[in-house]
Amino acid sequence: MIKNINIALIGNPNTGKTSVFNALTGLNQKVGNYPGITVEKKQGSCRLDRVTKARILDLPGTYSLNASSMDESVVVELLLNKNNPDFPDVVVVVADVENLKRNLLLFTQIKDLEIPSVLVINMSDQMQRKGIKIDLEKLEKKLNTKVVLVSTRQNSGVEQLKQILVDYRSIPSKLILDPTIIDQDYFESLGKAFPNQSLYKLWLVITQNINFTKLERQKVPDTTQFKTQPQSYLKKLQQRETIKRYQTINQILKETYRVNLDETTDLRSKLDNLLIHKFWGYVVFFLILLTIFQAIFDWSSVPMAFIDSSFARLSEWTRAQMPAGILTDLIAEGVISGLGGIVIFIPQIAFLFLFISILEETGYMSRVVFLMDRSLRKFGLSGKSVVPLISGTACAIPAVMATRNIENWKERLITILVVPFTTCSARLPVYMILISLVIPNERLLGISYQGLTLMGLYLIGFLMAIVSASILNRLLQSTNKSYFVVEMPNYKLPLLKNVAFTVWEKTRSFVVEAGKIILAISILLWFMASFGPGKKFSNAEQIVAHQYFNQDLSDSELENKIASFRLENSYIGILGKTIEPMILPLGYDWKIGIALISSFAAREVFVGTLATIYSVGSDAQVTIKTRMDGEIRKDGTRLFNLSTGISLMLFYAFAMQCMSTLAIVKKETNSWKWPSIQLFSMTIIAYFVSLLSYQLLK
Ligand code: GDP
Ligand code: MG
Repeated sequence: MIKNINIALIGNPNTGKTSVFNALTGLNQKVGNYPGITVEKKQGSCRLDRVTKARILDLPGTYSLNASSMDESVVVELLLNKNNPDFPDVVVVVADVENLKRNLLLFTQIKDLEIPSVLVINMSDQMQRKGIKIDLEKLEKKLNTKVVLVSTRQNSGVEQLKQILVDYRSIPSKLILDPTIIDQDYFESLGKAFPNQSLYKLWLVITQNINFTKLERQKVPDTTQFKTQPQSYLKKLQQRETIKRYQTINQILKETYRVNLDETTDLRSKLDNLLIHKFWGYVVFFLILLTIFQAIFDWSSVPMAFIDSSFARLSEWTRAQMPAGILTDLIAEGVISGLGGIVIFIPQIAFLFLFISILEETGYMSRVVFLMDRSLRKFGLSGKSVVPLISGTACAIPAVMATRNIENWKERLITILVVPFTTCSARLPVYMILISLVIPNERLLGISYQGLTLMGLYLIGFLMAIVSASILNRLLQSTNKSYFVVEMPNYKLPLLKNVAFTVWEKTRSFVVEAGKIILAISILLWFMASFGPGKKFSNAEQIVAHQYFNQDLSDSELENKIASFRLENSYIGILGKTIEPMILPLGYDWKIGIALISSFAAREVFVGTLATIYSVGSDAQVTIKTRMDGEIRKDGTRLFNLSTGISLMLFYAFAMQCMSTLAIVKKETNSWKWPSIQLFSMTIIAYFVSLLSYQLLK
């Protein structure tokens, strides 16, 4: 008989929960979301011994059970709800050996909920270097639990942890802190009102409600009948609880934990001084960004070109293999080019997350957060906005989701509103193709103009985000002031495994999530381009043949004329032509107009749309770039010249062209008000900036 148990991994941020999770579950894991909210939910399974199978949940980082952010409240709600299918049989609290004191605060709270809890002291590989000594036996006795030293880096302690987990029933459920010492009267009367219940659990349920009075959220079990005290009083009791707990913990650690301070962390403080320096800190950050963007441009262009031409060949091959007809057209032009439009993102997203996760892993990202807090605060953002703003360079969707750990609502809202200005990877293919068309491929002092232009576009995005943040900061009502706590973890060599996991996960979720929309739109577009109303569309062949009957056109030339005539009169052509007068002053023709329209659903469709438009009726061997390069205006000049190219890039830099982002903003702000404001203001800004730039440059 196999026995199934639930295990929850809980701990402060950055203590190595995910690393322990990975060590336990290997590849048996899946990532999803908690119902109703977008906090990430990681689940996996693991065979503990021959008869015990564990379902393991990697929970978001939390400092205490007095939840102050949504991430944290996920943990509290799980621990308070025995009926939750994920409710743990045993909790593994992951602590990091260098911050044991702060980690134990959380541990004692969970222990006092009378859920069997095991303490993992992770990063034990650092003990020798830091001169840390722990009396494990005594610590186990004082905490009434099993304690295990783990180093996921050296892969030690994991087997021992599994053994302890198999035997979780033998862990005593003795309390560490008797709640009545927080406030005797209050807790005694609470005990009288709810006789057969755990006092500490009741207390958490009550404070859980007061901590979230301002947020709309699912309610925990009803305790409204016990609101005899004003909230300020309850908050004071909460603080008392924290103080009492720390007193207990200090006492325990005094007897069990020793640090030999002769090995100073000299290098660390020197590095810190440089990296968070008011001037040099920014210089280093800027240089790192420059390197990253140049690398993304250089490294991903080869695989992208390969993917591009492979899909062109695949489409051609399909056409050759299948009987001519509508279905073949759909597959060769709609489906395959749509799939190509998804796959082509993979190199950029993978490289970007490679760099971001390396920066996070080494501990550098926390320095950036700290460095930026000083300046971002002036614009109504928080140091923690840096992570969303940087993640926004991959995709606004995870970036908007990443704002969840910003505690202050106003700062969070501003971050959400300005994030879509940062250059997401969906803009990258648009920029890449336009840059390669209109910016000369030359170098000055080893720096390429093309790379520089790309970086300029990223900077413009950031700048616009900052400027609009400071405007919003003035416009929006301020709530309460926020405080700022940032972790300064030690510098570490990045763990290849963790980096690889991040890259894999982000890429996969992009392909699955955004991929659906891109594919659907590609197919819709194909339909709109392949069908049209009225006689002009259905009689295209006769009309064109009649028009050119006295000219000596070759068969293929005539075919191209027919195809382009068809396109002009298809549904999408009609739509593009309708908006042409509006976009002509920006330097665009109706074909670009079609691409713009479809980009309002998702930017990345731009290149794909042009590919669809140009490849209808033409042979698939020609790549998109050569087709775009050959486009001619009525007056005989190139369509994609410098002024049109710049104007288009600026349009894409500022316009809100992403359905999925609007949807996620609606979800996170719980109203259509904010996404509508985003859509209209960003698009208007984009229109006027592009108008101005084209009129000046032409
Ligand atoms: P989480 O935020 O709690 O999920 O923590 P992660 O698993 O993401 O790890 C945070 C950081 O600690 C990463 O940089 C890891 O590489 C690092 N880390 C994890 N386990 C160990 C360990 O055993 N030793 C050392 N030195 N670093 C570790
Ligand atoms: Mg984690």
